[in-house]
Formats: sequence, structure tokens, C-alpha cells
Amino acid sequence: MSDLFRLELETALKAVRIASRACRSVQKSISPETIAKQDQSPVTVADFASQAIVCKIIGDTFPKDAIVGEEDSQELRTPEHTSQLDRVHREVELTGVKGKPADICSWIDRGNSPGGVERFWTLDPIDGTKGFLRREQYAISLALIVNGKIEISVLACPNLPATDADDQNTGALFSAIRGFGAKLWSLDDENAAPQSVRVSGTARGSLARFCESVESGHNAQDVTGKIREILGSTATPSRLDSQAKYGVVARGDADLYLRMPTKATYSEKIWDHAGGVLIVEEAGGRVTDMHGAPLDFTQGTELKKNRGVVVTNGLLHGEVLAAITTATGG
Ligand code: AMP
Ligand code: MG
Repeated sequence: MSDLFRLELETALKAVRIASRACRSVQKSISPETIAKQDQSPVTVADFASQAIVCKIIGDTFPKDAIVGEEDSQELRTPEHTSQLDRVHREVELTGVKGKPADICSWIDRGNSPGGVERFWTLDPIDGTKGFLRREQYAISLALIVNGKIEISVLACPNLPATDADDQNTGALFSAIRGFGAKLWSLDDENAAPQSVRVSGTARGSLARFCESVESGHNAQDVTGKIREILGSTATPSRLDSQAKYGVVARGDADLYLRMPTKATYSEKIWDHAGGVLIVEEAGGRVTDMHGAPLDFTQGTELKKNRGVVVTNGLLHGEVLAAITTATGG
């Protein structure tokens, strides 16, 4: 392991493990009625609890580091949201992280940096909120970016099969340090040794197994369908929420993950990708935008210089980019 970022990685692993506990506890409380009413409150509570926990733990060890998180506490501080803040407070305390409700708000707001600085963390406290509410896939994603490069990342996927697609146990925790490979840990057993993670060896587009977003609003499924057709891939794509897709490609359960733009105006958010990107790259894969450009994490909270995201095992990257050009007319 690199000594340079050892403390950062250990701290990040600890933070997302504890945040996962809060997310799991809240997810258990989601009932069919909550889903039927389209009640967003469980995900809101879990989002705040997760960001509070991660920002407290990172901020205590690295007080000078900026954190670019998805949430802020503005609404939570208002009198109408007292009961929600109490629930967040309770969920945080259940994980063993102690503080007052006011502390919760200030921990959340440690994550309010706009980025664009030399060294910062980026956090998605719950990526895949729709999956979280369906009790399906979601992730807690955290990465450290220094001079525009992702140096370490961790990605907790509480509902993903623990080791591979056939595993009946759930709870996968991926990590990577630039130049030192990607690892897969048990989310539940801190003492279990991690295993190395390696992308698949699929080298022909016609054999490629795709994964993509469940939400058609987040990925143009008609375009990815066309790309599959051009490559001659007949396997049904797996659809799952969140950056769990990066984990699935990193360990070879799928060969590629495509995210094709649905709107001309949408820029991808850095916290939706930073955690996953380094894990796939360190597992031997490749990540670019749809034009083959590397993702540029120096543009504040968004990937303003990029369009779409293409994640492959590396071997398929050139063939896939060519198919994208054909499918989209250049
Ligand atoms: P996924 O689970 O892969 O569907 O991605 C979830 C993420 O999609 C959320 O965290 C949002 O930030 C992001 N998102 C929201 N709107 C869009 C959009 N129009 N295109 C792409 N991603 C989006
Ligand atoms: Mg997200």
C-alpha cells in the first residue's frame, strides 16, 4: 500500500463503513406505503446522516481539507424541520458517532466546498436515491482529488453481492489508491482481508455485457440500444442504480457501463463519478467521456468539459468509442 495516502484510505474506509450502517438502518424502515406515497423522507434522512458521518470523520482527521458533498444543512436548520433533524441525529448516534443536533448541521456543512482547489474530497452520501427507495442498489462514494487527479477512492455498495454476482451475501466495499490497484473488502467484516479486483478479459464487442442506469432520464437507453446493435452484442443489459455500476465493471461482472446524455444542458456531477472512476482504472479498465476525452475534475462541482461517460474493461474501449461515433453521427 502507498504510504503517501495510507491514512487517507484508512479514514475513508472507516467513514463509509459507518455511514453505510446508518443508510442500512434507514432503508430497513422503508415500507411499501412509503414507496406508494412516493415519500422521499427516508432518503433525505439517510442522505443527511451519511454526509454528517463522513464529513465528521474526514474533517476530524484532515481539518484543512475541503469536502465537496452533495448536501447542505440549510433546510434542516429551519424550525419546520426539527423532527427531521432529530431523526437524523438519532440515526447518526445509533452508529456510535456522538454529537448534538447542531453538530450534525455543522458536520454536514463541512461538505459545502465548491471545489476547484488543489486538494479536496468529493462525496455522494447516497448515490442512486431512486434505488435506495426501491430497496435496490445505491452507493456511498468518496474520493480524494489532488491537482485534478483522483488519488484515492472508496465506494460502499451495501446491497451489492459481496464478492461477485453469484454471492448470496450482500455488502461490497471497493477501494483504490492511484498506482496501487483496486481492492474489494467485506462491508461487514472489518477484519477480513481484501481481495484484488480485476476487470474482465472480454475483448470483442459482440460478447460485451453492458450495464447502465435503471432511470431512462439519466442515460439515453435508445442510444445505448443502438450501440449494442452496432457492436453485435445480444446480452440483455443489466440495469442498476448508482456507482455500483463502476464496481460491477471493476470486478468483471459486466464489461462496460455507458452513460449517454439525455439532455444537451446536463453536466455530470463530480460526486457521481469520482469514487467509481479510480476503482475501474486501478482494476485495469478505462474511463472517458463519449468522445474519448478523460474526465476533467478541475471544473468545480461538474464535469463541464465532458459529455457522457464510457466505462470499459479497457480492451473494448476503442471499439465502443467507434460504435458511439457511428450511433450518434459523430
Ligand atoms: P444512476 O443511479 O446511475 O441513475 O445515477 C444517479 C445520479 O444521476 C444522481 O445522483 C443524479 O445526480 C444524476 N442525474 C440526475 N439527472 C441526470 C441526468 N439528466 N443525466 C444524468 N445523470 C443525472
Ligand atoms: Mg449521485
